[in-house]
Amino acid sequence: MRPDSCDKHSEKQVHLYCHDCNENFCLTCLTAVHRSHNYGEIREVADSFRQRINDDDERIVSAISCVHEQPGQTKRSEEEFLCDVEDVRKIVLATGDIVKRSVDDQIADVLTELESVTAESTDQAKNVQETCQQALLTLESFHTYSRELVDKGRPSDVTRAAHDLHERAEELLNSDVTAVEYHPPHVTFTPADVTQMKRLTLIGKLAVITQEQSGRSFAVFVLTVICDLYFKHYKLHLKTFPLPHPLGDYYFIIYCIQKY
Ligand SMILES: [Zn+2]
Ligand SMILES: [Zn+2]
Repeated sequence: MRPDSCDKHSEKQVHLYCHDCNENFCLTCLTAVHRSHNYGEIREVADSFRQRINDDDERIVSAISCVHEQPGQTKRSEEEFLCDVEDVRKIVLATGDIVKRSVDDQIADVLTELESVTAESTDQAKNVQETCQQALLTLESFHTYSRELVDKGRPSDVTRAAHDLHERAEELLNSDVTAVEYHPPHVTFTPADVTQMKRLTLIGKLAVITQEQSGRSFAVFVLTVICDLYFKHYKLHLKTFPLPHPLGDYYFIIYCIQKY
């Protein structure tokens, strides 16, 4: 504490305070310097300053409490943020699973169709082979019998069998087994345009919008799932195997979390 004496006149006591010069002064100083200034009695001015100091201090105390709360608030905000991220992560994985499953389903369906066509065609080839084999046996046996009859048969044997044999020969020749041919189906596959696949949004888009507003952090996550594009794309290229999907054409999910 400085003594109550005047800075300029150490023998004099200070009684007054000058608002313009921000200093205490004595009566001698008043006459010499501060007469025309805005001044007052120290006792009274101090009371009004006390009030101002108290007001300032109240605001400081309130600021201290705010700063005290900050770590807790930050922790809570971070926890909420991590919760939101976890929700988004689950939706991303779930959507991915649906897309992967639908691809697997489509692959399985096409392969099943392919196997069924193969089995059908294999059966057909087998039938044609068997028919051929059977016809060959019949024709060869007829040939053997005819040869034996002509070479070794007595004239009476020939006359006895000739009529039926000729009729049988006509019959055999009329049923042309070579007409029964194997015609496998022509199988092709038009693959989806995989070069477009990389640019295609298969599961959706993640948007992170961060905004600083008067000290509050504002983040919005938008997950837009555009599976319908994906399915339309597939249907376009696999028209021969249209696969109904439980998701239909309206699969459009907007997931929005607002975090304050
Ligand atoms: Zn003085
Ligand atoms: Zn002054």
